[in-house]
Amino acid sequence: QQLPADNEQANYCRQVMSAAYSFVSPKQTAEPQLIATTSSLVEALGLKQLTESEFATVFTGNELLAGMQPYAMCYGGHQFGHWAGQLGDGRAINLGQVASKTLGLQTLQLKGAGPTPYSRQADGFAVLRSSIREFLCSEAMYHLGIPTTRALSLCLTGDKVVRDMFYDGHPKEEFGAVVCRVSASFLRFGSFQLPAQRGDVGLLRQLVNFSIAQDFPQLGPPSKETYLKWFDEICQRTCQLVIHWMRVGFVHGVLNTDNMSIIGETIDYGPYGWIDNFDLSWTPNTTDAQGKRYCFGAQPEIAQWNLFQLANAIYPLIDEAEPLNQLLSNFAEIYQSQWRDMMKDKLGFEQLREPDGELFVRLEQLLTTGNIDMTIFYRLLAGYNDEVIDNKVHFNSCFYQIQQNTEGFWRSFDSWLADYCQRLKQNVSDDNDRAKKMNQVNPKFVLRNYLAQQAIDKAELGDYSMIKQLQIVLASPYQEHSEFEHFAAKRPDWAKNKAGCSMLSCSS
Ligand code: AMP
Ligand code: MG
Ligand code: MG
Repeated sequence: QQLPADNEQANYCRQVMSAAYSFVSPKQTAEPQLIATTSSLVEALGLKQLTESEFATVFTGNELLAGMQPYAMCYGGHQFGHWAGQLGDGRAINLGQVASKTLGLQTLQLKGAGPTPYSRQADGFAVLRSSIREFLCSEAMYHLGIPTTRALSLCLTGDKVVRDMFYDGHPKEEFGAVVCRVSASFLRFGSFQLPAQRGDVGLLRQLVNFSIAQDFPQLGPPSKETYLKWFDEICQRTCQLVIHWMRVGFVHGVLNTDNMSIIGETIDYGPYGWIDNFDLSWTPNTTDAQGKRYCFGAQPEIAQWNLFQLANAIYPLIDEAEPLNQLLSNFAEIYQSQWRDMMKDKLGFEQLREPDGELFVRLEQLLTTGNIDMTIFYRLLAGYNDEVIDNKVHFNSCFYQIQQNTEGFWRSFDSWLADYCQRLKQNVSDDNDRAKKMNQVNPKFVLRNYLAQQAIDKAELGDYSMIKQLQIVLASPYQEHSEFEHFAAKRPDWAKNKAGCSMLSCSS
């Protein structure tokens, strides 16, 4: 597409047919200011030579570096189970690709750099609050070993952005901000759904071929077989992704098909949340509070539903339902088997044994009824063995309302721990070794909802210190950080029903 001379003209809202993207121009902003960067990424992407002010100027979209040609991507999606038509990058603008020696080809994408043809009724901007959440969480996920888009930088634009805040319903002026996200691919399930829905098989095929060539070259040249292998690979990656989320207690919050990455990364950090007290029915998203479509425990099923939509989209390229159906039904089985494997590691068992499934299920029930902090529990379990005299004392710090647990609960809790110790006897190596291994899969530090909110509250007053502190801790979340022990504390009482700490809206 030709870039019109006039930026406004390039960015006007429209249905974009027969194209996967549109050239756009980011909006000029009043006063770009750099708040934080991910230094390892700055280095890996060869951006170290930029001064702070050059960096802020470029990564708020005020200036382009040589070779950058900004574009916004066209995609559709199912939102909360309903086909929503064209969505697209309403406030994301890709600047271009960087060939990094260590990371390979990476695309740089500004989030919040102004309207695009896909902005629909919205403004194309992002506020500081949600940009901090995206910036911190992407990197937290990365260091937890979970596939994710990354975050290069967080900048203020110097402009104000108006938002309807959900807790009082009154419009509020907030600070405009831009995060630069980084990924090998920003293609989503919805990128393929839209041309398929429009009957544009030519574009669909072109896009699948592109995805394979760019991100799955090992699958071979385009053919029906390669397309099936591609879909299989996406099923596997998506499955592993959800396993990771369940391992660390991450709830995405808006698993619409436009928020599903084709390369199996966590993408689009909106009203996500972290599990404090273990609760499979918990959702951080206020929009989802009724249906709980995207609650913690529903994530595997929803991922499969989304894969089903992707299968539907690429059906015209395969023209045969059976192999696609087969891959979809494999998903449930593979998920179950990988979940058990993941639980085996969380509990520190060297090998999975037939009766372990029952221990896993009993544990989930106890974590739920006992009002137990998931993250703290697993760290305490690593240090547990049959020499512990008082279970209540050993596990004291992971309970939210310890006094409210019934006699019956304690009996089941003690008996589970006794069975656990019995089961540990089948390990060959010792307790120290087990603890070490458990602590490599059970993080000590996650971006607890209230911590993100505290960092935001401070940042809105111009104090960015907590962002920097969280960056340090979350960069090695499986390790101890004695000076930041308080970041591992369970959710304080004041945060239980506070906006931003337990419930979030999509308004970002
Ligand atoms: P999300 O729920 O964040 O996945 O967003 C769904 C759709 O709304 C995507 O097409 C976004 O690009 C678009 N969108 C969300 N917020 C904005 C905004 N402030 N301005 C323009 N488009 C937006
Ligand atoms: Mg999205
Ligand atoms: Mg979003």
